[in-house]
Amino acid sequence: MMGKVYLVGAGPGDPELLTLKAARLLAGADVVLHDALVSDGVLARISTAAEILNVGKRAGQKLLTQEEINSLLVSYAGTRATVVRLKGGDPSVFGRAGEEIEALRGAGIEYEIVPGISAALGAAAAAGISLTDRRVASQILFTTFSRGIDGSLMDWGCVTSTTTLVLYMPGADYAEVSERLLGGGLPAELPCVIVSRATGSQQQVRWSNVGRLASEERLSAPALLIVGRVASHEVAELSAKFWDANRIDGAVARTSVS
Ligand code: SAH
Repeated sequence: MMGKVYLVGAGPGDPELLTLKAARLLAGADVVLHDALVSDGVLARISTAAEILNVGKRAGQKLLTQEEINSLLVSYAGTRATVVRLKGGDPSVFGRAGEEIEALRGAGIEYEIVPGISAALGAAAAAGISLTDRRVASQILFTTFSRGIDGSLMDWGCVTSTTTLVLYMPGADYAEVSERLLGGGLPAELPCVIVSRATGSQQQVRWSNVGRLASEERLSAPALLIVGRVASHEVAELSAKFWDANRIDGAVARTSVS
């Protein structure tokens, strides 16, 4: 027997933000392998008949390696009809879906991706802001400085005065984040907002700016940072002249405003 593996997005926390398809698959799954970030409200939607495995990792304490998770998916697909790989937010955004897809393809196993609401969208909704705004923001960059991804490869040249930057996994050291943003040429006055546990009952929203961020009190994980002129309840008409023309990587700053 060959089962099918569904890579399912669990959304940012609020179970009402699950897609109908995700809810249907959870209710009919034979086995669910989920990350630590998936909320209890979402886990409650899993069929009582299903086997449930937490394959997530919490800070410092690795439960399973990515290779072990890949092998589990392949072996479960050999014995169960409906295997759900449940990930926080959307599976294709900082979710290591690429590695799992490769393992499944390599083993000739059928798979399907069921998108979810990524944390960036949940956080913007929580903060009550729009990620694009035809007055000040025409592009969104989802990025991270997280270790394991070479932060020095960040292409600051693509961050302009009309970019909304969403920083996943900002970590606990806001001073370092602030320093890197300033080093990338972002103005200290540029608004930013930290959103912790977006869409959950313990959601927190902290308004700041790139300079002040360094001294903000740390919010609990998971949290993300939205940086840009949209990250304020009064869309900031900051002049493009604030943008540093001498970026650290030497790229030419593009400061045109639509
Ligand atoms: N696939 C996920 C992201 C996984 S990376 C997605 O699409 O959302 C994990 C990071 O996502 C966290 O460190 C945090 O930056 C962010 N995140 C996930 N859930 C969040 C939430 N409810 N509130 C704020 N940030 C969240």
